[in-house]
Amino acid sequence: MAGLDPATIKATLRAHGLSPSAPRVAIYAWLQTHHVHPTVDVIYRALRPKLKSLSRTTVYNVLHAFVEKGLANVVRSEDLELRYDGLLSPHAHFKCTQCGAIIDLGAIPDTLAQAVGLPAEAKPTELAVLFRGLCAACAKKRTADSEQRTAADATDKP
Ligand SMILES: [Zn+2]
Ligand SMILES: [Zn+2]
Repeated sequence: MAGLDPATIKATLRAHGLSPSAPRVAIYAWLQTHHVHPTVDVIYRALRPKLKSLSRTTVYNVLHAFVEKGLANVVRSEDLELRYDGLLSPHAHFKCTQCGAIIDLGAIPDTLAQAVGLPAEAKPTELAVLFRGLCAACAKKRTADSEQRTAADATDKP
């Protein structure tokens, strides 16, 4: 993927005031190539085979530093788990309540604040748009399951 060679990553980290340690370089590269909004644990399990000394605390600290320096965002899903996002431009999310996937949607339109009547004096510092419900795969599975049940009910009848 373009712009993801180690030299570029190291330069990006330095430009954001972070020394390019091996865990930081690896976590940055993983976050930029896996748009799955991972938890600390997901990244830990993905990178532990390559970085033997990696701990969950290190992953947490690295992600925390990324958020502080503007290299990652925390996805606001109102759930207790912390999920991280390497895509920095404002975009909407869809969270599946069945499988837990957080899917990227498109850019949030500039007109949103006006459309929902945000007072002109208000000074928002964050913007989050999150849809919740069943993702396409889970919705399809549920429909198939209920059709199967309906078919089974029909054959049970005398
Ligand atoms: Zn799902
Ligand atoms: Zn996202």
